[in-house]
Amino acid sequence: MYDGVKKIQKEFPLVFGGENKIPVVLVGDGWLGLVRELCRRLMPLIEDTDGVQPVEIREEHGSMVISLSGSRPVVDLVDEIEGKSSETCWVCGYEGRVRFDLTHPRPYCDKHYIDTIDKQLAKKVIRFPDPIT
Ligand SMILES: [Zn+2]
Repeated sequence: MYDGVKKIQKEFPLVFGGENKIPVVLVGDGWLGLVRELCRRLMPLIEDTDGVQPVEIREEHGSMVISLSGSRPVVDLVDEIEGKSSETCWVCGYEGRVRFDLTHPRPYCDKHYIDTIDKQLAKKVIRFPDPIT
């Protein structure tokens, strides 16, 4: 995840307040395409204004939360990307939906939903009492 974010930061340093800033982008690999789309479309909007504060991107209740204020077009762009995130698989970036039955509800495609259930079940190891010897 972090390598992917670093790559995007190198491509769009202005969005993150410079190349040497530590980017605050805490999302799954499947959402990096959306992060790149946000940055790409944000660039012309930044050049039009006095600049924006560095972007912070997290996940909350299965949706991307982008901390960034700006002009109307920036706000519209942020709304659009946040909306897309809840329909984008957290792992692979394909179409998905938020799975509220999981311990941590996030959007997954069918394949990664099943993988995540398996991982969740694997953590719940049932221990029977040791046989009496
Ligand atoms: Zn997936």
